[in-house]
Amino acid sequence: MVMNPTRICIAGVAGRMGQCLLALTLKDPELKLVEALERRGHKWVGHHLSEVAGVEKGLGVVVDSDLHHESTAQVFIDFTEPVTASFHAKVCADLKIPIIIGTTGVVGDEKDRIARAAEHIPVIHAPNFSVGVNVLFKLVEQAAEALGDSYDVEIVEAHHNQKEDAPSGTALRLYQSVLKGFEPNAGYTAVHGRSSFNRGVRTKKEIGIHAIRMADVVGEHTVYFAIGGERIELTHKASSRDTFARGALRAAKWIVGKDPGMYTMAQVLGLE
Ligand code: NAD
Repeated sequence: MVMNPTRICIAGVAGRMGQCLLALTLKDPELKLVEALERRGHKWVGHHLSEVAGVEKGLGVVVDSDLHHESTAQVFIDFTEPVTASFHAKVCADLKIPIIIGTTGVVGDEKDRIARAAEHIPVIHAPNFSVGVNVLFKLVEQAAEALGDSYDVEIVEAHHNQKEDAPSGTALRLYQSVLKGFEPNAGYTAVHGRSSFNRGVRTKKEIGIHAIRMADVVGEHTVYFAIGGERIELTHKASSRDTFARGALRAAKWIVGKDPGMYTMAQVLGLE
């Protein structure tokens, strides 16, 4: 029996990731679920998790649509959608609750709101919480540095057909890893997909990013480094969402007690 398990709130609990997080939390003695959120109007709101999610009766958590001011959560975990994630970051900043954000496709004002929250609370907003992918970020940076920019680089990602954002946040982060390994300010541009509308041959300053959407693919990313006569392919394939959920829960335990600021999954894993 762990004396002081980390008290967490899961937002988006009925979603694909939410249900993985819930299942793993309930098996982990170092964690205690104290709140669970779903969008207003969702059929789970107002019901005990034991009724709707088939979890143990004694849990006593009723699904809500808002985080309460008297919340006892020590960490908030958000796997929802971009506007909601940025709103949750603001609420957590007001309530001084650290937040782990897995939601991807966050842009513009939503991104700014999360950055402002990090002035008041510790925040981790990672496009991919799997340990393997975070190692891949490092490997890609090292490969780019070692091979140099005479190699053509193309990034291909595949996900299930319900994913709303494209390219994936992970593909965009891999692009950043390539830039870090090359000369970051040398004027590279990302070219998203190719068609005959983008006329002309590939230039040396292009890094192609391509998104495939099909059936139930959990998440696959390959970075190609090619030059006349050879090609290196660095690939990560996720076969279960548990890998992301496990990483997010690891980050949740790590973030308690940290100073306000934006942290990375690489810091959680001791990779930087
Ligand atoms: P999903 O659509 O299955 O689940 C999202 C859930 O959020 C839904 O149940 C939805 O009702 C709920 N939601 C929406 N608005 C809400 C609100 N205002 N309050 C509370 N709940 C709300 O999606 P998913 O596959 O679970 O993915 C969720 C997000 O996580 C996506 O952005 C996805 O790209 C991202 N993701 C990130 C990682 C990672 O490692 N960072 C891994 C997988 C998925």
